[in-house]
Amino acid sequence: MTHRLTTPGLMACTRYPDLFSTPDGHRVSTSTYQARLDAAREICIECPIMLACRDEARQLRAFGVWGGEDDIERASAGFKPRQRRQPAQCGTEAGARRHRLAQEKPCTICLQAETGAQRLRKRRAEPPKCGTRRGYQRHRRLGEDACEPCRIANTEADRRLRATGTTLAA
Ligand code: SF4
Ligand SMILES: [Zn+2]
Ligand SMILES: [Zn+2]
Repeated sequence: MTHRLTTPGLMACTRYPDLFSTPDGHRVSTSTYQARLDAAREICIECPIMLACRDEARQLRAFGVWGGEDDIERASAGFKPRQRRQPAQCGTEAGARRHRLAQEKPCTICLQAETGAQRLRKRRAEPPKCGTRRGYQRHRRLGEDACEPCRIANTEADRRLRATGTTLAA
């Protein structure tokens, strides 16, 4: 048995790839999708291997239209297509990594996210300084009396918390 999945180029569907698959991350409107699906089905219905094709696509948990069936129908038949790995979003550290892997220059929001994450990690790695609430908490953790600047900073933070709901300075 020859299949579209295993022997590309043989069946009518291979001449109309746009009808049978939607490129990753490219969304179309419902009406466009429905029109493509209908057109694809008409091709499949004429196809001599329709049932075998549908079956193979179910087994492979494929995406797209195969044997007249789309992702949603395949899922309701109990063969949910495998989750596609989402590419890392822009505006995240992983996004910046993705750009570099693709040998691109990371975009502005990716660079910002990366710098922010690096700063945060650095701050977390450093012992807290005296004269801050974290400094005060460190004294307490070590079982020491807090120094004067830390006591003041902590009192200030408490006061802000009561007044504004956050310890962050305005
Ligand atoms: S059934 Fe449809 S998708 Fe499968 S090989 Fe035939 S035309 Fe292509
Ligand atoms: Zn980006
Ligand atoms: Zn201190």
